[in-house]
Amino acid sequence: MSHFASQVQPAYLPGSISEQRQKSPAAIGIDFGGTNTKAVLIDVEGRVLREEAFPTPHESSAITDRILEAIISFDGSGLPIGIGLPVLLDEDGVVLGAPNLTEVIGHNVKSSIIDALGELDKRPACITIENDSTCATIAEFYLGCAIGSRYTCVVVLGTGIGGGFIIDGKLAVGANRMAGEIGHMIIEPNGRKCPCGREGCWEMYASGDSLARLANERASLTSSGKLYELYQLTNNSIKGEDVVNACQAQDPQALAIMDEYAKWIALGIANLTTALDLELCVIAGGPASSGDVLLGPVRQHFESFMQYYSTRPKVTIALSAFEQLSGAIGAAWLALDNAMQQ
Ligand SMILES: [Zn+2]
Repeated sequence: MSHFASQVQPAYLPGSISEQRQKSPAAIGIDFGGTNTKAVLIDVEGRVLREEAFPTPHESSAITDRILEAIISFDGSGLPIGIGLPVLLDEDGVVLGAPNLTEVIGHNVKSSIIDALGELDKRPACITIENDSTCATIAEFYLGCAIGSRYTCVVVLGTGIGGGFIIDGKLAVGANRMAGEIGHMIIEPNGRKCPCGREGCWEMYASGDSLARLANERASLTSSGKLYELYQLTNNSIKGEDVVNACQAQDPQALAIMDEYAKWIALGIANLTTALDLELCVIAGGPASSGDVLLGPVRQHFESFMQYYSTRPKVTIALSAFEQLSGAIGAAWLALDNAMQQ
């Protein structure tokens, strides 16, 4: 049986802590993003006791080394360990596809880590590997703003876009465990070339990285203004948070860029909501820390994209309280659940 099959519907209710779970002291969660990796140590109630972040290595051997470093630095031998990866995995933990981490395709990360920890005599209670966006969705559903929801999409904006669904109150992973690859919905035929090999994928317009790309493109076409100055100052490397800061200072150029970016986000969310009749969309990842600067225009464009918006029940669009940690927290929560069931 897939390790995932037993994880999809944990044997406890959202928000509750079973007697068995209380026996688990804590767990480690590691979320490998396309660019950055976050690691957390959580307690049995999902509270983050410690967190770390570091650049994501791209060689499979370096990934194993990084995981070992995090486990050792958290003094985590003997603890359940959950790992979220931006990849599609088969039931044995072999990477089938990874548009933003191609170096690990065909690699069995789980086996490598188990072997490496065994050599160091630091065996964990268990190791759980899962898609990173599925981990983020679990964090929202069991600990975050989707507790008790029935129809929800969690949209993780990072290097690319990942997603997870709660359908009829349950995590839905699809017929082949391939649901949630929402970043590769084509929304602009003949559009930007995507690392997946096709053109016009949603993540080429609305990912966390897309805001910075859009800002640099727009700034390169101007010769004055705050963003143009920043563009020169940073050697053509404006970051997403620079745009957010400029928006908070009411810079018109930054506000226009944010509006365009928000429109792309809203387009995808509206299409998902139209298809699935969602009641809640949670935006996670780096842009989730932007607050109303992002949420305001996203809601505005969402309204214009939605059919029957004025007459249908309200759809809530929320920002994750975990921001960039949702994947790591969800990975740790999954690991706790697996340890409980062993
Ligand atoms: Zn793509």
